[in-house]
Amino acid sequence: MLGKQGKRDQAKETIDARWKTAESSLMKNVLRSQSLSESELETARFLSSAIIRCWREELDTLGKTTQNALQAPKLLSKWENLLTLQNNEAVHLRAHPDSLDTWIRVYTFLRCAVQAASSAIPSTLASYFEGSERIRDVLARDHGNVFGIWEEGEAMLDDDESEMLGFAMYIEGSYFNHSCDPNVGKTRRGRAMEFRTTREIVAGEELNINYIDTKADWKSRRKELLSGWYFDCKCRRCIDEQASDITT
Ligand SMILES: [Zn+2]
Repeated sequence: MLGKQGKRDQAKETIDARWKTAESSLMKNVLRSQSLSESELETARFLSSAIIRCWREELDTLGKTTQNALQAPKLLSKWENLLTLQNNEAVHLRAHPDSLDTWIRVYTFLRCAVQAASSAIPSTLASYFEGSERIRDVLARDHGNVFGIWEEGEAMLDDDESEMLGFAMYIEGSYFNHSCDPNVGKTRRGRAMEFRTTREIVAGEELNINYIDTKADWKSRRKELLSGWYFDCKCRRCIDEQASDITT
């Protein structure tokens, strides 16, 4: 979901303060005293992969800038695309306050691990893990924007037999808003996600995917979308089904 310029959350200052404290904390002996759970290690891997991509992208951009000088059109980088997604940090922490401890533990672990391996890591990359800004940029967009990865090569939300294997972030795929009556379907092809229209599209019609299983009734769907994706679904189907509930 693309971000909106929403009003600043009052909790943001408290969250910022916690991150600032973590950034200035001493790293001595953290690796020895702090072990991460399996899911925290997964988060650490995900964050490392995202930050390394950001670093490589910035190196590429620097290279292109010097070689192609003026003729290269300015393209939006993937990292910039990530930043256009809705920032769900405050709204996620309001519903799951314990996540902040987890996030800061993972950040501290990564910062410490990078410092410990500083002789093997380029200093420009190591500097990306010093502050929390990029880590927060990713975490804030993780919840509400990642896609479930299902077995059988399909994102089969409507198939009860299918098992979810994990999550992946497809930044441009997250530009699709949700509808309970979507006109775009998604299929996983290896590591890629393919999006195809599922019916005729009228000029100007918005393309939508479904974030959840759409078989449930409108109240259940709205509840799930509000708790997992932080919005109240006002799609045509929800409005129609709510109206017919009220009139019957
Ligand atoms: Zn809906």
